[in-house]
Amino acid sequence: LVKAIDVTKRYANFTALDRVNLEIRKGEVCCIIGPSGSGKSTFLRCINMLERIDGGAIWVGGELLGYRRQGDELHELRDAEIARQRRHTGMVFQRFNLFPHLTALENVTEGPIHVLKEDRKAAVAHARDLLARVGLADKMDHYPSELSGGQQQRVAIARAMGMRPDLILFDEPTSALDPELVSEVLDVMKDLAESGMTMVVVTHEMGFARGVADTVAFMESGRIEEIGPAEKVLSNPDSARCAAFVRAVH
Ligand code: ATP
Ligand code: MG
Repeated sequence: LVKAIDVTKRYANFTALDRVNLEIRKGEVCCIIGPSGSGKSTFLRCINMLERIDGGAIWVGGELLGYRRQGDELHELRDAEIARQRRHTGMVFQRFNLFPHLTALENVTEGPIHVLKEDRKAAVAHARDLLARVGLADKMDHYPSELSGGQQQRVAIARAMGMRPDLILFDEPTSALDPELVSEVLDVMKDLAESGMTMVVVTHEMGFARGVADTVAFMESGRIEEIGPAEKVLSNPDSARCAAFVRAVH
């Protein structure tokens, strides 16, 4: 579902991503771990087209991001086409960036009604299902300020799901939460994974990576230093740096 070939991203003369390669099949969960500044968020932002890449190529759902092929030539896509491609992908950030003036239910229906042009009744019914699924059946009419961090993050997950994405990217979804709220969000993510959603998760939660991820990628200095089955990368990595990182995070 996702294929990244030699993805390179520079900021001025700093190389944030250096020929990153990654392939994720439909229904797979890939966790990305690695030290601060290694390029994890940048890579997610490239998959989501929040950043333009300077080299390489990314495909999501078989579509080459940002370009259209015409014969032998590649043409850059227009904004409307990029917006359409971005709809394949949902994103959940570290900081629950809900709309503060909308209720939980309205946060989930906003995109489906205004972007996907879904019928309001159908969108509301879908949003109610999703909020019930993340354990918030009784909080649908609450505003973000009336919800705990864990509840807000679960609304953010329901909101991403509301757009019916093929893929959801999570950027440290629990690292801004009080410790006692982390597991309720991880449990929702685990359910989502078990339902067959394709997910890329940047996280420091090694228990989640070990229990839920199919593959784990360890990033260091803009490169994927090690990638493989979760158990292998977390318990018996080839890379000494990866081993040291996993030991330090535990
Ligand atoms: P963290 O674990 O702290 O979130 P990360 O692995 O997500 O780190 P990135 O945010 O992807 O790291 O950043 C990778 C590198 O790119 C960092 O050195 C950062 O300073 C640099 N960088 C990121 N965004 C920009 C930007 N807009 N302009 C310049 N440099 C940037
Ligand atoms: Mg980051």
